[in-house]
Amino acid sequence: MVKKRLAAILMMVALSVSAVFPAVSSYASESDDAEKEKVEQEDSEHDYEDTNRANKIQELEDSIKEKQDQIKKAEDDRKKIKSNITDIQKMVDDLEKEKSDLSNYVTKLDGDMEQIQDKISELTDLITDKEEEISKAEADLEEAERIQLDQYNAMKARIKFMYEKGDSYYLELLFKSKNFGDMVNKADYIEQLSSYDKKKLEEYIANCEYVEACKLSLESEKQTLDEAKAQVEEEEANLEKLIDNKKHEIDAKEYDISNKEQAIKEYEADLAEQNAVISALEAAVKEQKKKLLEESGNVITYDGGMFAWPAPKYTRVSDDYGWRTHPILGVQQFHNGVDLAAPAGSPIVCAYDGEVVAASYSSTMGNYVMVNHGDDLYTIYMHASAVYVSTGDKVIRGEKIAAVGSTGRSTGNHLHFSVRQSGDYVSPWKYLGK
Ligand SMILES: [Zn+2]
Repeated sequence: MVKKRLAAILMMVALSVSAVFPAVSSYASESDDAEKEKVEQEDSEHDYEDTNRANKIQELEDSIKEKQDQIKKAEDDRKKIKSNITDIQKMVDDLEKEKSDLSNYVTKLDGDMEQIQDKISELTDLITDKEEEISKAEADLEEAERIQLDQYNAMKARIKFMYEKGDSYYLELLFKSKNFGDMVNKADYIEQLSSYDKKKLEEYIANCEYVEACKLSLESEKQTLDEAKAQVEEEEANLEKLIDNKKHEIDAKEYDISNKEQAIKEYEADLAEQNAVISALEAAVKEQKKKLLEESGNVITYDGGMFAWPAPKYTRVSDDYGWRTHPILGVQQFHNGVDLAAPAGSPIVCAYDGEVVAASYSSTMGNYVMVNHGDDLYTIYMHASAVYVSTGDKVIRGEKIAAVGSTGRSTGNHLHFSVRQSGDYVSPWKYLGK
């Protein structure tokens, strides 16, 4: 009985409690619903995070795949650059060969020259001999002419004497004759005398003519020798000129060789230096990106938009991207950007939104700015006269970041604009539009 009552009281208490706090039980049921909802929401959030993670993994995998492709491409490019260096080396080897051929040719020419000079001295000796003979002939002629003249004068004197004495001389001669025989002899003598004179004169004239002829013949021989000598001397002069030219050619080849060797050295050094700087910067950005991804997932991304023209108003491309022949050295070189000719101090603007990776100086790039646009895309601005940004600065498309100049390895005021995609130079025209 007592037990029954107690149970009844307890029951009443319970009922009254529920009457006093009617909300308690309903509150409990609402709280269950919220809990359930929350759990559902959390479940969906978990789903979302799972999807997001899966997407990120997919993205990373895609990016890795893309990088592998790019590495393959970079290796190909490197091979190409290497083969280009080999080409320059081959050019140098060819030049060395040409130079040695030229040297051999000059040695042969020097031999020819010796022969020609021997011939000249031989001819000079012959001419000297001939000149001696001629001067001897001249003396002979003079002597012959003198003898001839003496005879002529003596004969003239005798004729004059006989003419002046006239017949009386003959008569005297005849009358003074002891006898007829003597007279005949005397007349004969006169006759003989005049005929002797005549004969001698003729002889002397003939001798003169002979000596004269000899002299003329010697002179003609000398003229022939003179002509031969002149000809050989002309050969000598031509050969001298040829040797001189060939020696100049050798000098030019040597100059060419040293220039090309210098070009190879500079080309390799420039390439190595730029690659080292740029790659280090890219590696640093990659490291940073990894950290950011771990922390918040908030990294710069490139949305695929077109670039702003980096040198506003200056559209003349003084040197395009790609393989080109060096204007002076004639060797093939790879130009890793576009050169835009612009006056010193003209603004250089950022091609796209991004973050400044470097605002620095290098001996080849001069003052330069490198901007990270996300997704392994970078732009580089070289040879600036002034730089207005610092590493870490956020920059936007079209923002003035530097001024055109000619610092570093540059021959005049211009902006060298390079684009890097996944560790390799790419054509800026892909992003600039042409
Ligand atoms: Zn350039």
